Amino acid sequence: MDVIERERKHIMQTYNRIGIVIVEGKGAVVRDINGREYVDCVAGIAVNNVGHCNPAVVNAIKEQAERLIHASNLYYTVPQVDLAEKLVELTGMSSVFFCNSGAESVEAALKLAFKVTGKRKFIAAEGSFHGRTLGALSITHSYRSMFEQLLIKDVNFVPYGDAYAIEKAIDEETAAVILEPIQGEGGIVIPPDGYLRGVREICDDKNVLMILDEIQTGLGRTGKWFCKDHEGVQPDIMTVAKALGGGFPIGAMLARDGISFGRGEHASTFGGNPLACAAALAALRVIENDDLVSRSMELGEYFVRVARDELASCESVREVRGRGLMIGIELEERCDKVVKRALEHGVILNCTANTVIRLVPPLVISRSQLDMALNALKHALK
Ligand SMILES: *Cc1c(COP(=O)(O)O)cnc(C)c1O
Repeated sequence: MDVIERERKHIMQTYNRIGIVIVEGKGAVVRDINGREYVDCVAGIAVNNVGHCNPAVVNAIKEQAERLIHASNLYYTVPQVDLAEKLVELTGMSSVFFCNSGAESVEAALKLAFKVTGKRKFIAAEGSFHGRTLGALSITHSYRSMFEQLLIKDVNFVPYGDAYAIEKAIDEETAAVILEPIQGEGGIVIPPDGYLRGVREICDDKNVLMILDEIQTGLGRTGKWFCKDHEGVQPDIMTVAKALGGGFPIGAMLARDGISFGRGEHASTFGGNPLACAAALAALRVIENDDLVSRSMELGEYFVRVARDELASCESVREVRGRGLMIGIELEERCDKVVKRALEHGVILNCTANTVIRLVPPLVISRSQLDMALNALKHALK
């Protein structure tokens, strides 16, 4: 029996997988079980920002694994403190709570917002995605209908990109507004310039917390360290995960000065585990030392410019948009077939929100690999 048949037998069929078995990765290239190579423009969904098996991350994991893999938060460990200092420096936030995934960091953010405000109502955006656990799903606009009765009741969904809609939705009971600075799963939706600044002003005015979910947009993805930096906005609480560990699972919830959990108010057995923190520290150093943030900006601008040009004659292309290496190509039709055809041309793409081809490649991808991706896309669209 091959891997795909075995997977069907004992793994719950929650994923719509593409039919390749990936066994190796290096930089922006992955290899499948049959030895076929692909240019990876998905990067584990904006996770492998420093490339697959980045040597610095691999070494950090090896070295830390030989020293100490896990100790728990009953004690102090050095990598966790080092990583906290680095994250605070990079984000301009004040303190951090470590967890193991994006959804967990969102859960922490919701609990913290309730704790510090004593209020239980949240405002989120139409088209939002914040994760699949119950709290995170409560503020997620899609994937919820089947579980509606289990979710937090007081969530108001407002049109994304419209700060005035948020102002109107805020009332006495509102704890926080939570937004992605660019919607990822929602289809690479970039809000109008000034949106985040507008929301910041409204939140200050109405004394409501602003939570930014930078899980997908963070860590160089959009051509700044964090997407909030495009507008110079500081949230009260922010969430980070995906690319943080260089591929290793880790999440973080950060808060500004004056907002914090007290002892016993939140916890995680694995949160801030030494191995995860060592991997994350290495990944952050790579982003910094190799200046992957500027690289993301330059390559993203290059790709969007060339793609607009080259795909102009494709009737099915509605729009090419992006910020840094967070790129969406919106089609007039569903895009799953295009993804399949691109795969045959050796390029891994992703389709989100039914009609948007999402490219979130490793930030170490080369110009020629991006050209290959565009070529495959051109063929696939024909
Ligand atoms: C991926 C994602 C999440 C959820 O992260 P998980 O690690 O899958 O739980 C939450 N918010 C945003 C914006 C994401 O892109």
